[in-house]
Amino acid sequence: MSTSTRLAELRDELSAIERDGLKRRRRMLDTPCGPLARVGERELISFCSNDYLGLANDPALIEAACVGARQWGVGSGASHLVSGHLAPHEALELKLAKFTGFAHALLMTTGYMANLGIVPALVGRGDAIFADKLNHASLIDAVQLSRANSQRYPHADLAALERLLAASQAKRKLILTDAVFSMDGDLAPLPGLLELAERFDAWLVIDDAHGFGVLGPQGRGSLAHFGLPNAERIVYMGTLGKAAGASGAFVAGSETVIEWLLQRARTYIFTTGSSPVMACALLASLDLIEHGDARRERLRQLTVQLKNGLADTRWQLMTSPTAIQPVIIGDNHETLRIATALYAKGLWVPAIRPPTVPKGTSRLRVSLTAAHSESQVAALIEALRKLA
Ligand SMILES: *Cc1c(COP(=O)(O)O)cnc(C)c1O
Repeated sequence: MSTSTRLAELRDELSAIERDGLKRRRRMLDTPCGPLARVGERELISFCSNDYLGLANDPALIEAACVGARQWGVGSGASHLVSGHLAPHEALELKLAKFTGFAHALLMTTGYMANLGIVPALVGRGDAIFADKLNHASLIDAVQLSRANSQRYPHADLAALERLLAASQAKRKLILTDAVFSMDGDLAPLPGLLELAERFDAWLVIDDAHGFGVLGPQGRGSLAHFGLPNAERIVYMGTLGKAAGASGAFVAGSETVIEWLLQRARTYIFTTGSSPVMACALLASLDLIEHGDARRERLRQLTVQLKNGLADTRWQLMTSPTAIQPVIIGDNHETLRIATALYAKGLWVPAIRPPTVPKGTSRLRVSLTAAHSESQVAALIEALRKLA
């Protein structure tokens, strides 16, 4: 096929995306991440970020980054296994392991890369993966990359998972789940998943992108929230670009698993070590997370305020107990229309559509942060009540 034919095809497909209400666009901000955003001439209250504790623009992180840049420079220069593993990276790994209660932790550049590294390092052809149907896209891609045989169980359905595990002949099994589901905000049934993993001798890989820093005592994450032990079969992934307010991710687990990932996770081995500046900022961030009860309490109060404020309206909220509060609309165009109407009132809420969520479940994904004020949340409630 000639390039011009192929380009014509792409133009057709792009038109179809637009026609179906699925076209995505970026908006450029002239302000740092925070509850107020300036976009062009507009001042907006933003309910888009995953900066749950309001740390992305915190003075302590900024200062740590500046001091870190002066001491360590900006780039790491090589992959961790060559010469890109600097003292701040090591210090951060030790701190993350201690904070999560695991023997060791390995720093990764992003959560997406972490997931793509973990799953293929643990299972391959002939092995079996059992994945929640609503898992994040990065986990879905990780399964593909592993070439293992994969089965998806209905969302959070322990009985269905048990049947699949019981029927499996595979020698190596791996259960794969988001801890907090990124588009619904609900929690995976981690105690039941761990019990099944124990009973059927499976790995349990947990993606705690939205729980780390927010849930559990001192924000130690979803395992701590449920009071679960740091079992050797658990491989725990947390991201550092959401509640931690910076960028990056880590995997924590037993000494053996972390050493194995260091030797075998391709997305760890074949990529440049993240900036030492980021590690310095993250060391400061972990201190704020650990001592961040007031931020977490504020986040909880704002979440209750939003839920109560919309309880008696036609807007269909989900049972989410977290700062991710989706408002389900269903139709793509209708979702866009409501998001646009809110935007016109100075309220920025993302419209989430397929393929990020299943067809027919398009939604507004409201995410709250400790940096929001009560009056900002009240403004969103009032606007949504008027639109209902
Ligand atoms: C955001 C997210 C990721 C990806 O993490 P990044 O550090 O942004 O690459 C992975 N899993 C889940 C559930 C997420 O929400």
